[in-house]
Amino acid sequence: MSAPQPRPNVLAIPAYVPGRPPTPREGLTTYKLSSNENPYPPLPGVLAAAEQAAAAMNRYPDMAGIDLYAALSARLGVPASDLSLATGSVALIYQLLQAFCEPGDEVVYAWRSFEAYPIAAAVAGAASVRVPVRADGRHDLDAMLEAITDRTRVVLVCTPNNPTGPAVTQTELDTFLAAVPSHVLVVVDEAYVEFVRMSDAVDGVATYQRHENVVLTRTFSKAYGLAGLRVGYAVGPAPLAAALRAVSLPFGVTSVAQAAAVASLAAEAALLERVDALVAERARVVEGLRAGGVDVPHAQGNFVWFGVGDRALDLAAACDEAGVVVRPFAGDGVRASIGEAEANDRLVEVASRFLG
Ligand code: PMP
Repeated sequence: MSAPQPRPNVLAIPAYVPGRPPTPREGLTTYKLSSNENPYPPLPGVLAAAEQAAAAMNRYPDMAGIDLYAALSARLGVPASDLSLATGSVALIYQLLQAFCEPGDEVVYAWRSFEAYPIAAAVAGAASVRVPVRADGRHDLDAMLEAITDRTRVVLVCTPNNPTGPAVTQTELDTFLAAVPSHVLVVVDEAYVEFVRMSDAVDGVATYQRHENVVLTRTFSKAYGLAGLRVGYAVGPAPLAAALRAVSLPFGVTSVAQAAAVASLAAEAALLERVDALVAERARVVEGLRAGGVDVPHAQGNFVWFGVGDRALDLAAACDEAGVVVRPFAGDGVRASIGEAEANDRLVEVASRFLG
């Protein structure tokens, strides 16, 4: 008798390596800049809403997520039928690939990009087609277009791109979408959209409303600071949103997460002020690095990228030594989140010393 075997491609799924937490150090405050989290603690009103929901944890959450769908629908000016909630936007990416790919189909995405993409493709039994980002960390949308074949079912566009930082412009996206065959689903991963500050920034909602093959994925984890609660949403044409809801896990988004997300939308002005402060810190970090002789790609998320190749692990170790934990990608580079001012200062100091 042999033991049950998972599908062969399941055995080949690459591991997701999470950002490491800092190790406590005697006499030194340590900081976590390894997971692109929001350094601010929850707003009191958001925490109160979560606690109130937690008091009824013996009950299942509202499976229809009525309040959150309604709040998002009002906020974005789209019908609730164009939305789908999930346990973080990473779940939406898994669900999109599961709903749209047959085994052997191809998923095209930039590389390096979000490390869950190859995993999600493998889970769906799809083949990953990775198109290298340009030297400046931008998507090479022309090359991505050329990579589309008869087997391509989904293209993932990560903007701003994690971990390299740049965002695509509306003009670039429009040109790309005009050339992508309409049966190919284009997922625009906007996990960091609230941090974008540039002219010609993508207006995701207006874009999906012009294209029947475009879905946006967004999250409460980054700008809204709810990473620990796991809630994200997709916005897209109603038939695509319906397909996503159909493959979603029943009761996946907890009552606590739903309540905190609704309260976050109600308190959005205060939360977006924090985003402005993080964007200002990002500018301060980039300028500090430049003054220290270190250039980084155009940073449009809540993180910066050091494309240091073989020195990635050494740079990460030097940051560790200074009490800031960053995220190395061996042989490629280091990503550091924008965090507390003191953490950012240390990052600038170490990187300038190490690389400048
Ligand atoms: N997309 C990108 C580009 C990300 O960087 C992340 C988080 N690291 C996610 C999606 C997923 O975030 P969450 O599941 O917390 O919404």
